[in-house]
Amino acid sequence: TPFEKLEIIEPILKALKEENYTHPTAIQEKAIPIILNRQDVLGSAQTGTGKTAAFAIPILQHLFQDQRQRNHQRMIKSLIITPTRELAIQIGESLSTYGKYTGIKNTVIFGGVKQGAQTNALRNGIDILVATPGRLLDLMDQGFISLKHIEYFVLDEADRMLDMGFINDIKKIIAKLPARRQSLFFSATMPDNIVELSSKILRNPEKVEV
Ligand code: AMP
Repeated sequence: TPFEKLEIIEPILKALKEENYTHPTAIQEKAIPIILNRQDVLGSAQTGTGKTAAFAIPILQHLFQDQRQRNHQRMIKSLIITPTRELAIQIGESLSTYGKYTGIKNTVIFGGVKQGAQTNALRNGIDILVATPGRLLDLMDQGFISLKHIEYFVLDEADRMLDMGFINDIKKIIAKLPARRQSLFFSATMPDNIVELSSKILRNPEKVEV
């Protein structure tokens, strides 16, 4: 099935064509319809399966459609948490590529560098924030970031996140999220502690495996 069959909107289809993406990967074919249907997802998928586009495309589509329905203000409406700087940068680039004709803006924050450029980017107003947990909490504590308006939340590479010792950071972050939201949870493996964490975040999730 080509992407058109998944009811992807024209501005995103155009960007995908330019990337020579003709057909969705298995995870995309399964997850995109569920996410567009506004259900939570518990996804087990490795890097390399096209997992990033599986969540990035429907989130961009929701935000594009939402902004036409209400008086559009640029506040952070989607938060994507990922364990490493490299993954955060890749996700930001993917969002910029797939979203180039949507007007949806993202920024990426991670630790290990000075925060000035990141806080400046935040002040300009963004729709999607891609973040590693430590720097996110740090900028939240300093008052640069509020999660009050988050509607779409993604926890990416959850097993790696726990291996890296981010469990308490994750719990602090999810405690600040609005109860009414759509959540997507991805992990390469699903041991008990991951399933337990997912149950604190997701509501009636659809399971997707590749
Ligand atoms: P990911 O698993 O998200 O790290 O993606 C793995 C690679 O597959 C990335 O380089 C993507 O650009 C590429 N990719 C993702 N979806 C598609 C698709 N539907 N068609 C062709 N390439 C894709």
